[in-house]
Amino acid sequence: MNTSTNLRNLLASVNHKSYPAYKSLQGQYNFGDYTLCIDHVQGDPFAAPSKLRILMRQSIAGFPADYYSLPDRKIALEDYIIRLFGAQAAKYTFKAKGSGKSGLISVSRPGQEILERTACNISGQQLEMRFEVGFPANGRNIQSDELAKIFFDFLPAAVNAVFYYKKLNAAAVKAVIELADDQAFIRKELARLKLAAFVADGSILPRESGVSERPMKGAVPFASPESLSVTLNLPHKGALSGMGIPNGITLIVGGGYHGKSTLLEALELGVYNHIAGDGREYVITDSSAVKIRAEDGRSIRGTNISYFINNLPNKKDTVHFYTEDASGSTSQAACVVEAIEAGSRLLLIDEDTSATNFMVRDELMQRVIRREQEPITPFINRIRPLYEEHNVSTILVAGSSGDFFLKADTILQMDTYRPYDITEKAKKMSLEFYSDSASSKTFANALSSFRPDAEFPKHSEAENPSAPVLPGGRTPVVMNSRRILLPGSFEKKRDRLKIKCHGKDSIQLGFEDIDLRYVEQIADYEQTNSLAYFLRYADEQLLDGTKDLNEVVKELMAIVSQKGLSALSDSSYLPDFLAMPRIQEVYACFNRCRSLKIKGIR
Ligand code: ADP
Ligand code: MG
Repeated sequence: MNTSTNLRNLLASVNHKSYPAYKSLQGQYNFGDYTLCIDHVQGDPFAAPSKLRILMRQSIAGFPADYYSLPDRKIALEDYIIRLFGAQAAKYTFKAKGSGKSGLISVSRPGQEILERTACNISGQQLEMRFEVGFPANGRNIQSDELAKIFFDFLPAAVNAVFYYKKLNAAAVKAVIELADDQAFIRKELARLKLAAFVADGSILPRESGVSERPMKGAVPFASPESLSVTLNLPHKGALSGMGIPNGITLIVGGGYHGKSTLLEALELGVYNHIAGDGREYVITDSSAVKIRAEDGRSIRGTNISYFINNLPNKKDTVHFYTEDASGSTSQAACVVEAIEAGSRLLLIDEDTSATNFMVRDELMQRVIRREQEPITPFINRIRPLYEEHNVSTILVAGSSGDFFLKADTILQMDTYRPYDITEKAKKMSLEFYSDSASSKTFANALSSFRPDAEFPKHSEAENPSAPVLPGGRTPVVMNSRRILLPGSFEKKRDRLKIKCHGKDSIQLGFEDIDLRYVEQIADYEQTNSLAYFLRYADEQLLDGTKDLNEVVKELMAIVSQKGLSALSDSSYLPDFLAMPRIQEVYACFNRCRSLKIKGIR
């Protein structure tokens, strides 16, 4: 291997030459305790910065093996190391001078969530950190003295501050590991206690602002109502009490501005672990939870929405429903069915972002518009069978409609940011209300027998071999139709499918833009990046016209869980930072892909 002295000499030899001479630096250099890998050199100072890695053998780095042996601990430790190295990069970035991106030192920038990222990998062999450097130049005139500062002053100092376990604050690292253990423990407890979510007392749910994910200062801390309070015995923190939201149907009601949506948003992101000090580090939701919302204008590719929508006036097939421009109700119906196909056991719904005609239909409307004229079976009629037959719970924010009271197992009222258990009271009042009402019979009928479930064509298990099996060996009724993905979905320039990521909101594959703005549980643009890699990998390697969506997604997840996210790239270097998305977001991305060629099977 080259030595750092070789690198010094190389730098001297390219000084003041034209920018492409930097390409000769590509390679690996021995810096004693660590290796500096220059994997890719940018074409000019304004192009995407150069890709580098630092590798240090674990025998030198010295992190305790039991800090990275379990997946949750490993992810938390890597996340912590990324943040430490990021602080170093922030100190030195642009300290070396030049035009354009000259002198930039950049690292993955994690937000409040702790995610598995390609930026750092810690194993028994070594510690690996990926980062980017803007190689300095004036115009296209190489300034290698400036780059020498980065290689020989800044990076050695950063490595010294981050890579040696012995030099870190041992208590701080231990706290990271212990929090990861405690969070994993709560996740396991949810299943054992039949809870959909846990929100610890004292949690801070609201965020600083619409553009800051930091905790709001001076917020009212969360406090569980007594009836729902559970105390968990965490392995490190010990006893921790909070609100346990039971599986089943939970309604969150209350006046406007009392904190309903804030609670639901915290639950949405509770599928991820949060860093210490976030305020939501002990807000843990069933990891499969999916936010369900209306998404007018999205495309739907063969999703079976007949559980909710039938007999459309244009006679469109709703078992394999296709549209380029979904309505509020069809988009929300598709969202539910696709979430369940993606393995979700918990739906999170906010009335604010729902299509009203999908959720409920009031009594008067049912009288005026006869059942035969209405294609939609509203969600209120499906909410109980979804739980009782499919084992899918719902947490629903409903501030304006009392119709859901009779359907709910648990009713929470948010009052000045505190939840109160009003289940008994609300049920009693709604029974009284409907028995007083002259139209109670009509209502009761409407409630129970409007489009009975028997009308819904149930698909047998044999039709879908990849149907998930519920605990206890019970197979759920498969609600989505089988969709075979066909090759050649994306138009390509030359032979490679070009991919691009626009922040958290969308990805571009070839000529297609996939809009992910309303896939609200994507926490980081690096997850969006990964989704682009997933789709390209599927398109290039997996789609052969025999596999259905479930098989393709499962194959993708198996590849990344065995080999890591970098396995999705076949180039000699990884051009983007990637973070692990959930399987639910992988499905969501396929489902929003307009050019995906699909063969629906009945
Ligand atoms: P709702 O959905 O009930 O109308 P929101 O959840 O949107 O209410 O909350 C309304 C406002 O109150 C938001 O600006 C939010 O940041 C703030 N808020 C929410 N929870 C708290 C809290 N615990 N302490 C202080 N402010 C809060
Ligand atoms: Mg709201």
